[in-house]
Amino acid sequence: SGRWARAMAIVKEFEEKCGTPDIKLKQVADAMTVEMHAGLASEGGSKLKMLISYVDNLPKGDEEGVFYALDLGGTNFRVLRVQLGGKAGGIVHQEFTEASIPPALMGGTSDALFDYIAEKLAKFVAEEEQKFHQPPGRQRELGFTFSFPVMQTSINSGTLIRWTKGFSISDAVGQDVVAELTKALQRKGVEMRVAALVNDTIGTLAGGRYTNKDVAVSIILGTGTNAAYVERAQAIPKWHGPLPKTGEMVINMEWGNFRSLHLPLTEYDHAMDVESLNPGEQIFEKMTSGMYLGEILRRVLLKIAEEAAFFGDEVPAKLKISFILRTPDMSAMHHDTSSDLRVVGQKLKDVLEISNTSLKKRRIVVKLCNIVTARGARLAAAGVLGVLKKMGLDSLKEPEKTVVAMDGGLFEHYAEYRGCLENTLRELVGEETASSIVVEHSNDGSGIGAALLAASHSLYL
Ligand code: ADP
Ligand code: MG
Repeated sequence: SGRWARAMAIVKEFEEKCGTPDIKLKQVADAMTVEMHAGLASEGGSKLKMLISYVDNLPKGDEEGVFYALDLGGTNFRVLRVQLGGKAGGIVHQEFTEASIPPALMGGTSDALFDYIAEKLAKFVAEEEQKFHQPPGRQRELGFTFSFPVMQTSINSGTLIRWTKGFSISDAVGQDVVAELTKALQRKGVEMRVAALVNDTIGTLAGGRYTNKDVAVSIILGTGTNAAYVERAQAIPKWHGPLPKTGEMVINMEWGNFRSLHLPLTEYDHAMDVESLNPGEQIFEKMTSGMYLGEILRRVLLKIAEEAAFFGDEVPAKLKISFILRTPDMSAMHHDTSSDLRVVGQKLKDVLEISNTSLKKRRIVVKLCNIVTARGARLAAAGVLGVLKKMGLDSLKEPEKTVVAMDGGLFEHYAEYRGCLENTLRELVGEETASSIVVEHSNDGSGIGAALLAASHSLYL
């Protein structure tokens, strides 16, 4: 019928606009490399902030003692306690508790957010066993993983540049987030010193390096996306501080804010961006990360519902609600292996109150999942290639290895996304180099990494 043809025309056009042939991905990678250089050259020189992390020493494996980490990333936050066994001792003990951030706190005040977090920390330490208590005269030390753009001023201080991922707490912008946390800890009576302020990418790099010395890059694909890598200090013109002994400095790229004319943006991306809390910002993140993939899919479904009556004469009311279709739901539909796509049917019914969908329509929904996900995963792979190029590792032919430590809920749980990213990266670097680039899931590296960095920046060394 005419409606079906109209819907298929919209799908086809979307598919074409989302196209990411290798040649385009290589242009994206090259643009990423160029922006990396520009961001390192001068402050504000690029959309890529290329933030100096003040981490010039990654864990060596001899860290020892009980340390804490607080991981505030977007959707959830975690409190961890890690006992490090010293040389060859590894991680002796590890325990964590997790809580979601109440949506009201994401748009409230700085005090409200940090008080909430400090309370959870207070409860965590109040319940701990005697054996984890610090020796007399020694304060607990914490690594704070705060995964938003921060201009660091030292290893344990830094001001919030801006929020991302749906947060908007205006009185926190420009504040030192360590000072904010420290004040909240004092208000809640928690004896604890923030020894390191890190980003989840830096934590993942540190956690990854602790177990594998070939880790040199880390990528987060969760609610948002970001990357960090080890740079030569001399290749950072904007760094005017003393040259670190190691000659190296870890850089937090804030690559979520990358943008380039080579990115295949569609009308749906534009509309989502304009209506977002941070229009014009985090464009790469909005095409690749977990917060947004389901929302892009929803927008395309809404379009075919409105313009081609894809789900019947009435446009389903739920389909008009922004962010109602979450990436985990999309992922469940995408991975539906049943012959009648019953998971797709069920999700459409449960989430969007669309019932009695035909198999033919369910197939189109899966196809759309694939278009959105493949574009995101392939662009993420192009980003990785850009970083490897900057590091001069894109044409390794030696037996030496580079490990890219990956983490985040999207990478961990969305198998199609992960598979597509890994295949694309292999394809882009070519067979010969592919064997020396290892993509590794660094499970929960960001929390452990922050605890490790707290250990290496302890007052009591
Ligand atoms: P954060 O980025 O907030 O620190 P995580 O790394 O845990 O948190 O990632 C959470 C994000 O991962 C969610 O917002 C969601 O987009 C994505 N995610 C979680 N579970 C799944 C899933 N089953 N399938 C696809 N994406 C998922
Ligand atoms: Mg996280």
